[in-house]
Amino acid sequence: MTTVAPRTGSSGRARDRSEGQWALGQREPLNHNEVFKAEDDALNVRRRVEEVYAKEGFASIPGDDLRGRMRWWGLYTQRRPGIDGGRTASLEPEELEDEYFMMRVRSDGGALTTEQLRVVAGISTEFARDTADISDRQNIQYHWIRIEDVPEIWRRLESVGLSTTEACGDCPRVVLGSPVAGVSTEERIDGTAAIEEIKRRYIGDQSISNLPRKFKTAISWLPDTAPEINDVTFVGVEHPEHGPGFDLLVGGGLSTNPHLAVRLGTFVPLEEVPEVWYGVVSIFRDYGYRRLRHRARLKFLVKDWGAEKFREVLETEYLQRRLLDGPPAPVPSRPVDHVGVFEQQDGRRYVGLAPVAGRVSGSTLTAVADAAEAAGSQRVRLTPYQKLVVLDVEPDGVEELVGTLAPLGLVARASTWRRSVMACTGIEYCKLAIVETKQLAHDLVGDLEQRLSDLELDRPISVHINGCPNSCARIQVADIGLKGQIVTDADGNQVEGFQVHLGGGLGLDAGFGRKLRSHKVTSAELGDYVVRVARNYQSQHEEGERFAE
Ligand code: SF4
Repeated sequence: MTTVAPRTGSSGRARDRSEGQWALGQREPLNHNEVFKAEDDALNVRRRVEEVYAKEGFASIPGDDLRGRMRWWGLYTQRRPGIDGGRTASLEPEELEDEYFMMRVRSDGGALTTEQLRVVAGISTEFARDTADISDRQNIQYHWIRIEDVPEIWRRLESVGLSTTEACGDCPRVVLGSPVAGVSTEERIDGTAAIEEIKRRYIGDQSISNLPRKFKTAISWLPDTAPEINDVTFVGVEHPEHGPGFDLLVGGGLSTNPHLAVRLGTFVPLEEVPEVWYGVVSIFRDYGYRRLRHRARLKFLVKDWGAEKFREVLETEYLQRRLLDGPPAPVPSRPVDHVGVFEQQDGRRYVGLAPVAGRVSGSTLTAVADAAEAAGSQRVRLTPYQKLVVLDVEPDGVEELVGTLAPLGLVARASTWRRSVMACTGIEYCKLAIVETKQLAHDLVGDLEQRLSDLELDRPISVHINGCPNSCARIQVADIGLKGQIVTDADGNQVEGFQVHLGGGLGLDAGFGRKLRSHKVTSAELGDYVVRVARNYQSQHEEGERFAE
């Protein structure tokens, strides 16, 4: 086994404090999350939910299960209504939370059959007050879930092969995959087999259910899963000798201290992806920093080690073999959201539909299942851009599908603004939020569609709205990224608003937006602000000039 020397700071001197790296013997619990994870594997909470909490009610749930372990089963307490964002930081968790839960359903690769979609939709209407948001991790997220209903929800999900296992928590979260895997005419190999194998072998596996923090994965031939910002990404590449396979990137992530993932310079054939993935997860488990939560993501280890050392440890300690060298995957000029009507490999069509910022409902999802089946389809995919794609549509069924779903807010021929505005959960349900986001996104899209209907943009301008300094809506990689905070308006009042980050992007434009300290906007003025920026950009930029410039 290779011995990995203690991490050194930029000065080169070994840091004197343990970072909580298990592989270096630093096993002592280092923060409260590490304590409760060490006391009892978080996955074990399921039995207590079924046997005790669902019967005895919300008040019977102890704090470490309620705000800790239940996340491993996709459950967070949601924000108590009526608490304004200015008080978020000053209240204790129990003062902020309601007796209802947000629940995330795992749908790896965003893949759902229409049968599964009907079950997901039925749970929404029956148990979640008709809520259902499409997250940018290809999950469906419910609100208003009562603890009493959780076992029945699990039963229904599992009856159609779905679950909430490790949908949240310090574990391998849902695996992103191309929404058009297996049907795209641009695809050389379909990564779905690797996603399925990882799910089958490792999700719920207690050897990797206690990681230092969350762990995000993307596996896709097409670079349509935000490949630069996952903890581990396998993205399609053609090897000159070995044919199609995957380029491996590690250590991407946003939030505070954003990092773009780095290439390890390897080539991974499809059938080796699960083994290599498990190796990367295991490095994170063993060498990840567990002392401080805000330094516990894999990106910090990758930044300190660098790609060369990471690859060496992966090969020598975890795989016991060298990986093939490989070329970099091609980089798209812009992220691909799949909204519109496109031909599949088999001549049928896939239809990408844009709700605003992922907001749908159980009733709408039932209508999607009906319309998809009427058009000959039994497969739907969620996208990492909060969109929805219906696969396998017969060509002569396209117009009816598009016409049926547009009045429900699912638009195939969508405006640039409907396509490029994303928003996180925000103050409506999130305990960490400072400002409202989803309704704002809805109003903003309507406003921009009207006021900028004359503007022919030569590239879309993405607007990502976050309710707090975290980055659930990926603000650092948007053209206009908006970080929720309380700001001072022109009359000196403290109101909801945003710190603006300008000029971030993915693909060829990959990089983080610039935060200009004075660049703040109130929620009420957001429409005016975006109109100004869009018109200035369109009138002043030169051909080929990027938004960031
Ligand atoms: Fe909540 Fe903040 Fe994430 Fe939005 S960005 S969902 S407000 S934690």
